[in-house]
Amino acid sequence: MTEIAGTTGLILNEPLLWEKGKEGREGYSMPRRDVPVVPLDFGAAESSPDIPDLSEIDVVRHYTRLSQWNFGVDTGMYPLGSCTMKYNPKTNERQASLEGFAGAHPLVPEHLNQGILRLLFELQGYLCEITGMDAATLQPAAGAQGELTGMLVIHAYYAAKGERRSKIIVPDTAHGTNPASAALCGFKAAPVASSADGLLTAEAVAALMDEETAGIMVTNPNTLGFFETNLPEIAEVVHAKGGVVYCDGANMNAVMGIVKMGRIGADIMHLNLHKTFSTPHGGGGPGAGPICVKAYLAPYLPEPRIIHDHGEYRLSEDFPQSIGRIHSFMGNVGVMIKAYSYIRTMGAEYLKRASELAVLNANYLKERLKGAYHLAYDRPCMHECVFSDRYQAVRKIKALDIAKALMDFGFHPPTIYFPLVVPGALMVEPTETESKEDIDRLISAFLAIAEQAEENPEQLLESPRKTKVRRLDETQAARKPCLAG
Ligand SMILES: *Cc1c(COP(=O)(O)O)cnc(C)c1O
Repeated sequence: MTEIAGTTGLILNEPLLWEKGKEGREGYSMPRRDVPVVPLDFGAAESSPDIPDLSEIDVVRHYTRLSQWNFGVDTGMYPLGSCTMKYNPKTNERQASLEGFAGAHPLVPEHLNQGILRLLFELQGYLCEITGMDAATLQPAAGAQGELTGMLVIHAYYAAKGERRSKIIVPDTAHGTNPASAALCGFKAAPVASSADGLLTAEAVAALMDEETAGIMVTNPNTLGFFETNLPEIAEVVHAKGGVVYCDGANMNAVMGIVKMGRIGADIMHLNLHKTFSTPHGGGGPGAGPICVKAYLAPYLPEPRIIHDHGEYRLSEDFPQSIGRIHSFMGNVGVMIKAYSYIRTMGAEYLKRASELAVLNANYLKERLKGAYHLAYDRPCMHECVFSDRYQAVRKIKALDIAKALMDFGFHPPTIYFPLVVPGALMVEPTETESKEDIDRLISAFLAIAEQAEENPEQLLESPRKTKVRRLDETQAARKPCLAG
């Protein structure tokens, strides 16, 4: 990278601090000395650390510029399907930074840590209420780890019954983490195809379900953005053969306070607190993927568990059938505090309202765009909708080109090429926190790109044009990332 600032307008280039430093620069002024000078004795290994000398403004500009290279929901709309990149109210951050929370050491003894334990205990209760389950663990650090924990719980459940089951049914629309989590636990994923209207059917599941099969992993709403209306019948089929129904709850943002999965057949489910319950994510964490279970699976949950006993909250390891610990200490507590704050500030009524608005926004966007973009399944959706590049592909414009072009309009691209059952998929999730005006702006950008694909497709192949870096060789960028900027 050149060191000339300003080559792309106000998004300035920035060298490494080591390249920027100049010997003798200082970021602070020491008060005048009022004691005699004493030479420092570093001993034989005397050498100064390799730290660049910088002035205060060097450092401030460095980090401020780097922050401008990032795109987040505070900068603009982030309609990344299946990820629920909604706006997270700042009050949740404020609660999580309260000194009593942020400053608490994980090894603080229980009697001095009653506040945090109570918060976590109550959060488990809220999550059980929302999912219609009986018990929860907050330990898993992400949805994928929640899935793994769920698979371990199911494995332990069969082990306790003296049964060995080797397979688990996973729909063809599932997120890649589902079969991966099953495989990590030694289960073989048995794929089941969804029907022509994008749903699982009890018949398709019945054709696979047997006494060798531990159960099914169902994402509800699924990754096509549809509610799995046949879940009660599917659960009946699975339960009749002694199986367990695992629900991937990554898409709960569509049904918070509306559907309790535990009431319609699920036995175990994870939630992604960082998606649905208000933690900014996208840079790789931290997150939290609690799982909630029906009472019959509770004995296998990870330890320690929080118990409320004679007015005191305690951590107990008195669960002999537990799968053991799956995260150090209590998991990512900061994320849990934000989720607690979010749930308490929203209350039952507004959690439900948030889901209703998420669904309304997605359907509005779907209806406005469906003439210009091929809609994979033309029916009412939940919180996200899946288009494809079919109309644009005849002009050699692919989902990737459309996604890159959106960046020139100031939007984060949607999820592309997922779910796998839709070739050239563009999965858009506007979320409830966007205003109609902002959704209209996104729609206009999509429409302008569709028009350009008709009239001037070659130009689109060169997008993005207005970003700090132009189109990257994606393979090269993944294999040999340039970490210096
Ligand atoms: C995000 C997601 C996951 C994985 O969750 P992480 O928190 O990213 O590990 C699993 N399933 C679906 C449907 C998802 O959208």
